[in-house]
Amino acid sequence: MIRGSTELVAIVGSPIAQVKSPENFNTWFANHGQNLAMIAIDLQEAALDAFLASLRGWQNLRGCVVTVPYKQTLVDRLDGLSERAAALRSVNVIRRESDGRLLGDNVDGEGFLNAARQHDFQAKGKSALVIGSGGVGSAIAYSLCQAGVRRLVIADVSSERAGTLAELLRSAFPALEIGTEYRSLDGFDLLVNASPVGMGGTGELPLPAELLDSLQAATLVADVVTSPEITPLLAFARSRGCRIQTGAQMAFAQLGNLGAFMGVTPLEI
Ligand code: NAD
Repeated sequence: MIRGSTELVAIVGSPIAQVKSPENFNTWFANHGQNLAMIAIDLQEAALDAFLASLRGWQNLRGCVVTVPYKQTLVDRLDGLSERAAALRSVNVIRRESDGRLLGDNVDGEGFLNAARQHDFQAKGKSALVIGSGGVGSAIAYSLCQAGVRRLVIADVSSERAGTLAELLRSAFPALEIGTEYRSLDGFDLLVNASPVGMGGTGELPLPAELLDSLQAATLVADVVTSPEITPLLAFARSRGCRIQTGAQMAFAQLGNLGAFMGVTPLEI
């Protein structure tokens, strides 16, 4: 029940009907007796500036999760950014301070790492391959570096995009081995598909068959795609005896990070 006294958080994007955060947050708020609720906002881009002005003045709103297509668009319109959101030029959560200032962070990568820890993956000293260097791939790659991977390889059909991200990460984490070249999957402790390949039941794999043939059972294979839950890559990895991590697990593992940044849940939920 939303009452006059209920404090709000929001999720903004367009389209919005497919997002799972409102169910996840509202279930948590109800189960923990919190007088809080999340609403979903399908916003036209032309209304973004007016929306931000409203957020600054919206006194019973604590924060707002940001999804496609506004993660990058909002970066230059907020009043402050975390170091990683500034480096990635992307936000996926905003906190409204009591004086109305709006601060942004990006916790996609932290959600990914939380889920990976649940699969016994500790990033420190490990070797990782991230396929896809767009919004979510960049966030995952950044968090893997922050967590101290030894070696990170970034692959993208746009070699320019992969190269730009590798350069950004090399300057932020000069002690790590960060590149864009690899010949085999052997030796990677973690393989992440952070591209949309495999989404919507196309049956597509993000890597050619000859490379997939070098996948070893010791590698944790993760996908960011949430639908289908078991993507063609995950199905292949499972058939090779690998541990797998789904996009839904990543999204769920991020709830505490989003909620804690907005000040409405503890970090561990
Ligand atoms: P994006 O468009 O910013 O980036 C996608 C990148 O993948 C691009 O750089 C593109 O060139 C690259 N790419 C496409 N095909 C490729 C291929 N075959 N090999 C290598 N690279 C390829 O998109 P995004 O915002 O990063 O989202 C990517 C996916 O992540 C989407 O499917 C989105 O739904 C999903 N996502 C999941 C979560 C979660 O919590 N599970 C969170 C955010 C986004």
